[in-house]
Amino acid sequence: MQTSRRAFIHGISRGVACVSILPVAATRIMAQENKKLGFALVGLGSLSTNQIAPALQKTKRCRLAAIVTGTPAKEKIWAEKYKIPQKNIYNYETFDQIAGNPDIDVIYVVLPNAMHGEFTIRAAKAGKHVLCEKPMEVSAEKCQAMIDACKAAKVQLAIGYRCQFTPHHLEMMRLAREKTFGSVKLIEASFGFRIGDPNQWRLKHALAGGGALMDVGIYALQGVRCVSGEEPTEISATETKTDPVKFKEVDESISWSMRFPSGVLANCATTYLVNGMNRLWAGAENGWFQLDPAYSYGGLKGRTSKGEIEFPQPDQFATEMDDFADCILSGRKSKVSGEEGLRDIKILSAIYQSVREGKAVQL
Ligand code: NAD
Repeated sequence: MQTSRRAFIHGISRGVACVSILPVAATRIMAQENKKLGFALVGLGSLSTNQIAPALQKTKRCRLAAIVTGTPAKEKIWAEKYKIPQKNIYNYETFDQIAGNPDIDVIYVVLPNAMHGEFTIRAAKAGKHVLCEKPMEVSAEKCQAMIDACKAAKVQLAIGYRCQFTPHHLEMMRLAREKTFGSVKLIEASFGFRIGDPNQWRLKHALAGGGALMDVGIYALQGVRCVSGEEPTEISATETKTDPVKFKEVDESISWSMRFPSGVLANCATTYLVNGMNRLWAGAENGWFQLDPAYSYGGLKGRTSKGEIEFPQPDQFATEMDDFADCILSGRKSKVSGEEGLRDIKILSAIYQSVREGKAVQL
């Protein structure tokens, strides 16, 4: 399952006004102009091990300074591999002592979805900036509590929407925004993979908050929102299950459509059933443009009705982390802010509501 996930995972974004918020913590860091911000990784699972820690070796403004793990065996391995001193190793109980550690500027929360809120709020209370993996949390209420805690502590909060930084996704947004092929009329977006181990947290509602939709359908939603540049006003969704035992607690496959104020329509799908569904396509008045694969960690492929789109493929996690460091150092608000994460969770909730009620939901 991890191989297929790694092979498929993805990116996107939209322009968000830059707001100068220059929090207290940023002012302190700016005193040391060339300093790399110290990141503490919380949760040393697949994503931290295979993507984030290696990406931290490629960043310009960040460094892996600390780890937080509930598995003592991982402490020694990580300490040796990344030269992390004992004083910068924490577990979930000692986590709050991070407040007194000046080596740590940013906490990167890479835990199961339903743990994001608790650790974001504890990080904020410790006076540290927070980068939190997607989906932001499992309910809008929990997302709002995270935003409020970071605001109260005057620290920045960003969500790990790596696609919003890829040149390929930025080009999709530009083509739509500048109406290169005329106005966009229809968008198709889909992302899924075949999930393995039936005992993993991704299949437990209490930890995941949902199934394929929460995990990877969110990329399709982000893709559509970023390309359309609008928020949906109506959603219709249906769910199908081929394995009701394995997917007893969470969704296996969901298809949904969205209407936007300008008249744009979007058809989307997500699944835990098969590999290879990994696409963002926009049909406009005079042509079309697409990414396929659209959401993988690398190897994105773009095409338009006029030919291929080729761009460099920088490490998506390194780019995302360097952007967050720049936000902190300059006082700029991240375009992948907590508010952006909350918008997605509200829409995902409406998709689940439409599935439950069997009818369209107005937003
Ligand atoms: P994983 O299962 O590989 O790792 C989860 C980590 O959390 C493990 O180290 C585990 O020990 C720890 N953990 C602590 N308490 C736990 C509990 N009660 N149950 C299970 N694990 C517990 O998961 P992952 O693939 O690394 O995903 C972590 C987060 O990152 C998720 O929110 C996921 O959505 C997100 N993610 C994002 C991307 C991306 O491309 N941005 C890709 C993969 C995962």
